[in-house]
Amino acid sequence: MVGLRTLRELVPPYMIERFAAMPSLDCIQPASCNGCGLCCQGIGSPVVLYTSNPDSWGPHPFRPAALPDDLIREIDDHFLGLHRGQEPQEQCLWYDAATRSCRHYEWRPQVCRDYELGGSECLALRQRHIEGERPREIAADEG
Ligand code: SF4
Ligand code: SF4
Repeated sequence: MVGLRTLRELVPPYMIERFAAMPSLDCIQPASCNGCGLCCQGIGSPVVLYTSNPDSWGPHPFRPAALPDDLIREIDDHFLGLHRGQEPQEQCLWYDAATRSCRHYEWRPQVCRDYELGGSECLALRQRHIEGERPREIAADEG
C-alpha cells in the first residue's frame, strides 16, 4: 500500500478527482439515478454521436431534430472532429460530477436510454461499486 502523497504522484489528477467524486451508495437496487451516475463515467461521451458532419446531407443519423443550438455548439466545439472512442474517456461531457447527474437528461442519446435503470448492467455496476471496486489505475498502482 502506498501513502496518499505517493498515490497523488502516481495517478493522473482526473483519476484522483473521479475517485473522490465516487458516490456513496446504500443499496444495490436503485429507486432512481439520483446520486449515482456510475454509468456516466469511464465510458467516454455518448453525446459525441451528436457532432455535426458538414460533409453529410440529410437528417443527422443520431441527433434529435430539436436539439438546441447551444448544445450542438458545445458538442462541436468540444470534440473538434473526434469520433466515438477517440474522446476523453474519464466522464461524459454532459456529466455533472457535483450532482452526479446528466446536465441534459431529456436529450441523452439512445445508448443512454437503452441502459436500463435497475437493469442487469446497472445492478452489476452498483454491486461492484458497493463491494469496493476502485478505478483500475489506482488499484494497479497499489499492487
Ligand atoms: S442507470 Fe444505474 S448505474 Fe446508471 S446512474 Fe442510474 S442507477 Fe446509476
Ligand atoms: S449523455 Fe447524460 S446520461 Fe448519457 S452518459 Fe452522458 S451524462 Fe450520462
